[in-house]
Amino acid sequence: MMKINEKFKLAVMVLVTLALITGCAYTTKDLNEQSVLALNWVQTSAEFHAISYQNYNLAKMNLDRFLASYSGSKPVAVITDMDETITDNSAYQSFLVGQDFGYSSKTWGPWIAAAQAKAIPGAVEFFNYAKQKGVETFYISNTKMDFLEGAKKKLTALGFPYVDDKHMLFQTKSSDKQERRDIVAKDYEIALLLGDNLNDFLSVFAKKPIAERSAEADKIKAEWGNKFIVFPNPLYGDWEGAIYKGNWGAGPAEKDKMRKDALERWDYKP
Ligand SMILES: [Mg+2]
Repeated sequence: MMKINEKFKLAVMVLVTLALITGCAYTTKDLNEQSVLALNWVQTSAEFHAISYQNYNLAKMNLDRFLASYSGSKPVAVITDMDETITDNSAYQSFLVGQDFGYSSKTWGPWIAAAQAKAIPGAVEFFNYAKQKGVETFYISNTKMDFLEGAKKKLTALGFPYVDDKHMLFQTKSSDKQERRDIVAKDYEIALLLGDNLNDFLSVFAKKPIAERSAEADKIKAEWGNKFIVFPNPLYGDWEGAIYKGNWGAGPAEKDKMRKDALERWDYKP
């Protein structure tokens, strides 16, 4: 039989061990800290502005070139993704820094409702230019239908054209956008696609490991900057899922490890 003071000592030891384990555990809050420099880049660098303008200048040149040689009978359309292609949600991502939780629809809903996302530099001008040229825009986003009305308000306030049910194809069933691209392609000639995630262009990138995603991008290298205009998103995306081998449910410590394991390091002993 243990004496009372031995029991007390054991209880204290258990408590101290638990406190140490909890204190040392890598949390979601710690993981969110890793986004700070990427957020700084999106929010403060003039380079981000310049790249955005560069992409929309390229889109305009390519659209002009397409229209100059197009003689088909179908009306012409451009397809664009929404988040991080035409709207900047970095303030939402910054809100996660210092919190012990990641993205969820519980906080994303109020963010959409607050309509505080900014337009990506050059976006509003480009889509209105396309409209002037008789080109319709279709917004294909994996935002859930629950957020459609909030998104409409946001895009209207920012000055985007074609903000209506016909032109906004949000996610109903699959996150694969091909079915929705096919709906547009039935009645329209698609001049351009714009997105920050390679699934915004083709489905071949879905759920592929890191090397295969890159190999698929290499196969169609002539399309980038031509029919396909890609926007930089260092904050999140399927590239991140590829690091986790699709295991988005992994804990923060495991994600931290997978991120660090994915680094190519210079093997040097200073
Ligand atoms: Mg996006």
